[in-house]
Amino acid sequence: MSESSDKVLTLKDLRSWKRSGGDFAVVGYPVAHSLSPKMHNAALAMAKYEKPELAKCKYYKFEIHPEELGEALGLFYEKKFKGINLTLPHKVIALPFLKETSPMADTVGAANTLCYNEELGGFTGENTDCDGFRLAVKSELGRDLKGENILLLGAGGAARAVAIAALTEVCDSLTIRNRSKERAETLFRELKEDFPLAEISLIPWDVEPKGEFSLIVNATSLGLHEDDPSPFPPKLLRKGMAVFDATYGVHTPALVASAQRKEIPATDGRAMLAWQGALAFEIWTGISAQDVFPVMHEAISK
Ligand code: NDP
Repeated sequence: MSESSDKVLTLKDLRSWKRSGGDFAVVGYPVAHSLSPKMHNAALAMAKYEKPELAKCKYYKFEIHPEELGEALGLFYEKKFKGINLTLPHKVIALPFLKETSPMADTVGAANTLCYNEELGGFTGENTDCDGFRLAVKSELGRDLKGENILLLGAGGAARAVAIAALTEVCDSLTIRNRSKERAETLFRELKEDFPLAEISLIPWDVEPKGEFSLIVNATSLGLHEDDPSPFPPKLLRKGMAVFDATYGVHTPALVASAQRKEIPATDGRAMLAWQGALAFEIWTGISAQDVFPVMHEAISK
């Protein structure tokens, strides 16, 4: 089968899959927007010089309905897909179908990277989002999470990965601000259970954040669209702060643009996406994430 890696494939395509194995895919619902095939196919094109067996492998995108995920994962295994990336809403609902999960996937309660495991007869699950965030903060802002006073905007899946990375690296404090109070409180309670000694607090969405923050992280969806407002009042941005916006799209998110105008270090979410992808690529192929990150980052920055 010579399916294009840009085409959105379905369960029907998977049922009639004829390739000989060793391929990769991102699986989501929806998935058309995913930049993962661009990144991973660029990495595969580079990696084949080091590992010729990768020359025949491709990375595809599959749109799979949540109710069909169990069947799809069985078929991906049967068709010998070497690695799968999961995106919304599959990162959490895939867990019961996995043969084993890593300690990081257990802590986050979600898996974004699955590995073919013949011995176990299925896929194992890893999570590279936390390390992707940590490495992006380092490569793009030159900061370590250790010792930072972090204001985290959002309480969804991305916010959870950011919070776990920050608390694992022993940030000084973490303040969570989310539109829905219930979701913020749930994340707060769960983090307190896993990190009982950490300095974690909550502030309401409609109250202006006060405090000495060194790193502002946007993990809400605000920033995806050109007319989205900034999730943090630009007038509160000060020298000494840095801004990390997990969103990425065709234009600069409002928060990043405001920070840049004030000459405050700021980045969008592309590097986090590229680092989580590079870490998955390393798990699947053994080729170092440090080596493939520049190629993957460039592929999604054009
Ligand atoms: P979720 O759906 O799990 O969470 C969405 C978050 O955004 C919630 O905190 C939600 O608040 C908040 N939100 C949505 N709309 C608004 C609004 N109008 N005003 C204020 N808050 C709002 O999504 P994810 O956590 O998976 O993704 C969040 C963002 O991070 C997305 O833009 C996604 O593309 C990006 N992302 C980037 C990654 C990367 O590698 N760079 C990886 C994963 C995600 P509420 O609880 O009130 O609904």
